[in-house]
Amino acid sequence: MDLTRKLADVPREERDTFLRWKYRELQLVKQVDKLTDRHLTMGHLIRASLEVIHRFFDCEVAGFQILGGGRRKDGGFFFSTRRAGQEEDLRAATQEILNGYLNEPFADLMVNEPVSALKGKGIRNYLVYPMAIKSQLEGAFFVANRDRPFDENDLHFIGVISSQLDNGVVHARVLEDHKKANNALQQRARELEALYEMSLSLSFGYDFETLAQKVLQSAMTLVSVDRISIMVYDPKIDELRTIFVLGEKQKIKLVKLTMGKGIAGLALLSRKPIVAPMGSEDDRFIPFEFPSFKPRKIYSLICIPLLAGEKPLGVMNFSILTRKKVFSGKDLETLSVAAHLISLALQRQQFYQLSIKDELTDLFTFRYFKERLAEEANRARRYKMAFSLIILDLDKFKSINDTYGHPFGNIVLQAVAGVLHNTIRNGVDMAARFGGEEMALILPHTGEQGTFILAERIRAKVESLVFEHDGKPVKITISGGLATFPTHGETAEELLEAADAALYRSKEEGRNRMTVAETRVKG
Ligand code: GH3
Ligand code: MG
Ligand code: MG
Repeated sequence: MDLTRKLADVPREERDTFLRWKYRELQLVKQVDKLTDRHLTMGHLIRASLEVIHRFFDCEVAGFQILGGGRRKDGGFFFSTRRAGQEEDLRAATQEILNGYLNEPFADLMVNEPVSALKGKGIRNYLVYPMAIKSQLEGAFFVANRDRPFDENDLHFIGVISSQLDNGVVHARVLEDHKKANNALQQRARELEALYEMSLSLSFGYDFETLAQKVLQSAMTLVSVDRISIMVYDPKIDELRTIFVLGEKQKIKLVKLTMGKGIAGLALLSRKPIVAPMGSEDDRFIPFEFPSFKPRKIYSLICIPLLAGEKPLGVMNFSILTRKKVFSGKDLETLSVAAHLISLALQRQQFYQLSIKDELTDLFTFRYFKERLAEEANRARRYKMAFSLIILDLDKFKSINDTYGHPFGNIVLQAVAGVLHNTIRNGVDMAARFGGEEMALILPHTGEQGTFILAERIRAKVESLVFEHDGKPVKITISGGLATFPTHGETAEELLEAADAALYRSKEEGRNRMTVAETRVKG
């Protein structure tokens, strides 16, 4: 029956059937129209229309293939009433017919007696129908396996669906483009925000550790990596030492390399980042033996040198430990920004370290010492903990200078400082040089007795030093004054004054001795 005719042209006895068909057509148009009104994405639109088709034709299979979308994940759509696992042949046949049709759009649209190969795959009868937008072929529909054969009316109905959908498809396309643009924009905004946050960290007075945490956490919102480590380079001993690890066992800190060794060492030597997509399988990778744990396999690794101009400061390592992933050029770019900020922070830290250290003796400066002494006194008052102060002065040092010369005096000063460096508790006590040949120590959590034992040990060690000048032995001694919180003072000034007075007594009473300050009489 020709459904495109006008009712007036239909013979009276066929009008009833004709109207019933027309009513079906109207129902179909309504259903498809509803879909296109819902602003669905392409995938959702196709899937929903396949459901409409399936219901309307009462068929076993409905499918759609986007032109040129064969390799795209969402290029082909398939819908069947068979249970999963029993539809593979049908799915393959659907794809075969649709791709065949799209390659050769003059093939038959309606087939009720398919070739035996298709029958073998369970296809009993089918319709294919093009979908075109502005005469441009966009894809094709597929309807198959109905209990009664397809006829001209069915072809008409699938045509109605196809032409009704085009508006929805155009809309879905626009929607998709818009989404893509929006996603790209959002991603860019996220990047800018993270970069801004990273650079902001630098302007706050964070210590290196906190700053590194903040910069790297921001970087990790942009690039997914499992572990980041920072190594610093000490040119004096040619050593790359790990000082900071984010995201993994801190034992990795044991890792040490030298310039040119391992991927990190090579990155530093070449002053260029190295991307190693094979990670620990890379020939250049040097595995590190840990005494008590087995390091994880690294799937992918980037090592970026940290530089101050051309001067090597260290290396940053970014590792993927959990899955295969290849870093992109974009990732490298982002991580390089993070590395640059870390370089600046490292430089700043090194400048700071230099500014608080005395060049000759590598002891802290007097200015830094005063800050730390005030801090320590505050802490001691707050937590009611003892701490002590020792002031040391070289005995008759003027005559050493006068007799053997200033450079020799410097060697003596360095040797005495060396005794301090080697005797105090690393990372707990601090030793400073008060300009000239006076030195001082702050000993946290240390009472009078402990302080005296340490002071005596230092005095004895210095006494036992033997210098040589023109083949002759030269000896030196030191005197000291000791003060303990709160016995000899409660503020930095009181303690300094008390220790100084005690030092004066050591000198008066014959030098080469340590004197404890007088117990304060509270007034
Ligand atoms: P005393 O036992 O009373 O402390 O005698 P002294 O000779 O050590 O007396 P004083 O503290 O007056 O002398 C300090 C000398 O230290 C004066 C100066 O020549 C010397 N001095 C200060 N700074 C340096 C330095 O950086 N290098 C050298 N070689 N000598 C220094
Ligand atoms: Mg002196
Ligand atoms: Mg002096």
